[in-house]
Parts: sequence; C-alpha cells; structure tokens
Amino acid sequence: MELTVIGCDGAYPGANGACSGYLVRSRSGGSVLLDCGSGVLSKLMALMDPALLDAIVITHWHNDHASDLLVLRYYLLIHQKKLTIYAPLDDSPLLQLCRGEEFDIKDIAQVNVIGSMAVSVQSVAHSVPAYAVRLTENGKSLVYTGDTDRWKNLTDFCRQADLLICDASFSTDQWHEKLPHLSAQQAAMLAREAQVKGLMITHCPPTGDRHSLLREARAVFADSVSAAPGLRLAL
Ligand SMILES: [Zn+2]
Repeated sequence: MELTVIGCDGAYPGANGACSGYLVRSRSGGSVLLDCGSGVLSKLMALMDPALLDAIVITHWHNDHASDLLVLRYYLLIHQKKLTIYAPLDDSPLLQLCRGEEFDIKDIAQVNVIGSMAVSVQSVAHSVPAYAVRLTENGKSLVYTGDTDRWKNLTDFCRQADLLICDASFSTDQWHEKLPHLSAQQAAMLAREAQVKGLMITHCPPTGDRHSLLREARAVFADSVSAAPGLRLAL
C-alpha cells in the first residue's frame, strides 16, 4: 500500500491546507480515500480522478471529515459517475445531505474489503458515532483512528500495525478530559502499547504547534512523524 496525506488539519483548513483526507493506493491499483474534509477534493483532483476511487470511508460525520462530499456529489453528477461510501449510518444532517444517486452509502460496520485491501473497523469514543479503520494488504497494515478521545480500547485494534495515523490534536498542557480528541503524548502511548512500527500524528488545528506536538510524541515513541499535505509513505 502507499499512503498519501491529502489533508490533515483539525477543525478547519489552514491557508492552502485541507482537513482530514488520506489516500491509500494498493499495489494492485485499487484506491480508497479515508475521510473527505474541507479542502480535500481540490487536492485529490491534482492526483487522480475521484470517480476512480474504489470507495470512500467516512470515519464520522463531522464537517472537517466529510464536508467535501457535498461538492464531490456535483462532480459525480456532472460526470455521471457513482461512488461507494462506507460511513456510520446515524442521524447526522450531513449524511442526509449526501443521500442521492451519486453515492451508494453503506454501513461502515459492514465493510470487510475494498479493492484488494482487507478492511476492519472499531468504534471509538468521540462526540458522535465514530470509527477507526484498519487496512491490510500483503501482510502490511495501516490503522487510522479518525477522531477519538480515548485510546485504551484501541490497543488491540492497532496491534503491530505497520503505520498508525492517530488523532493528536493537543499538547499535554492543552488536553483535558472533556476534549473529544487525544493529545500527542496519548497517541504515542497508544503506539507504544500496540507495538506499531511507525506513528503519524495528525489532526493538529491550524492554531496548534506541530513541532512541539511531534516532540511530545517522540519523547514516548521515537518512530513518530507529523502528518503533512503531500507526504507519501510506502508500506
Ligand atoms: Zn470529529
């Protein structure tokens, strides 16, 4: 698999940035987009025809993870294409706005294969129904937590993944129990406990300090990197 970070900003896109969007292409040519937040579609267009995706997985219906589906729908309408979406089937208004001929929206809990990639999901703790996603191909696996405010239920799900892309929105000083996200230190503790090979911290708000978050993560788990638009990693 090859991961390309399309966007990784938390809450809203910074200047010329994009919110959550991670393109994973398999060696067989299949591809899946994990989340489609604000700013993602424009950057994805620079890489590929979005209609050629095998599917889009939406971890949860917050706008910074799913709002570009609204304009992707127009693209599909104009080009008379249809895409499969796996997402939580809750009562989100954004989900209702996405219902139409252009998307075949399926329950994320039912997904088990996309293209040649095996897919499993795990519900996580967030302010709305939300899931972490694990993709596996040729013995390599990638886990994306989406947004989550607890990590102990994720240790087994992330076990020995080759790459963990983890919500790390806040510094230790900023974090408190009522925030619906993890700190960089907590993301690194999850990486260490799950014995993953590499950690990518993500979902830093544009107001945050990516360098200090990465320092906090590396103090706990050395093999940590910070997500950045355009960053590519081969697994
Ligand atoms: Zn969220």
